[in-house]
Amino acid sequence: MDLLSPTIPTPLQRLSNTDIERAAVQLFIKRDDLIHPTVSGNKWRKLKYNLLEAQAGGEKAVLTFGGAYSNHLYATAAAGRALGLDTIGIVRGLELEREQNATLQFCREQGMALHFVTREEYRQRNSEDYLKRISEQYGNPYMIPEGGTTGLALKGVAEMVGEVKGQLGIMPDFMATAAGTGGTAAGILSAGADVLAFSALKGGDFLSKDIHELLHEYKRPGHLTLLTDFHFGGYAKWNDELLKFMQDFRAEFDIQLEQVYTAKMFYGLFDLIKNGYFKAGTTIVAVHTGGLQGLIRA
Ligand SMILES: *Cc1c(COP(=O)(O)O)cnc(C)c1O
Repeated sequence: MDLLSPTIPTPLQRLSNTDIERAAVQLFIKRDDLIHPTVSGNKWRKLKYNLLEAQAGGEKAVLTFGGAYSNHLYATAAAGRALGLDTIGIVRGLELEREQNATLQFCREQGMALHFVTREEYRQRNSEDYLKRISEQYGNPYMIPEGGTTGLALKGVAEMVGEVKGQLGIMPDFMATAAGTGGTAAGILSAGADVLAFSALKGGDFLSKDIHELLHEYKRPGHLTLLTDFHFGGYAKWNDELLKFMQDFRAEFDIQLEQVYTAKMFYGLFDLIKNGYFKAGTTIVAVHTGGLQGLIRA
């Protein structure tokens, strides 16, 4: 189903430079950033079956969770508007109520009702009791967890792997993705691909358990390698070195990354390539998961 008229399959492009040639690997980028102008990247993949289920169930409203710069809130607000679903966003941080930022402003413009909660309350976002209470409070909306990460999200992400296989003619040796909740990594693994997941958060070791829990009903998932050293200080933190890397990447390949997820992933991946992590002949597909609405124009 052509939910919101996406550009599918998204392009698969080969990247080449002297580091890649020296390592004798083949590197491709899966351009999921081009999938849709507002519901971009992995958020489109993850929302697809959740929103189809909401529509099929005749739901009137969708409720979800996110931080102040959340690509997921942004995508959900836009998709809900396009599909005629009301949207409710529970936002982490009471202090943000008075603050204007472009992401939340966009969400409001799409008609999303924003409810700001304390960090303590936000921490309960996956607890059953809390969700029951919230659901009653907001008139039993269709609930989607933070980041859109559900079992249905895995199914949507797995379709992206199917595209890659078709475009490449083989399953790549590795697929690389940035990780926040780990839903995207889990989706790729569910399709049987081996994954290098680059944590965008500090202390990302918890992701391994979360990802394996998401995969519990899959018999033969791919193998996960979790890289936790490329967080640049933590979630939504960055430094000049990362911004310079983004600029160089754009100059070299004419592709824009952003500083929260995709630049950290590519920085880490190039670090591995330069340091001889991969055998000659290895094929790697790195996913551009989008998120360019959150780009800082440095
Ligand atoms: C949300 C997001 C991620 C993280 O995806 P998870 O499935 O939560 O791990 C990665 N890249 C971009 C651009 C995102 O917006």
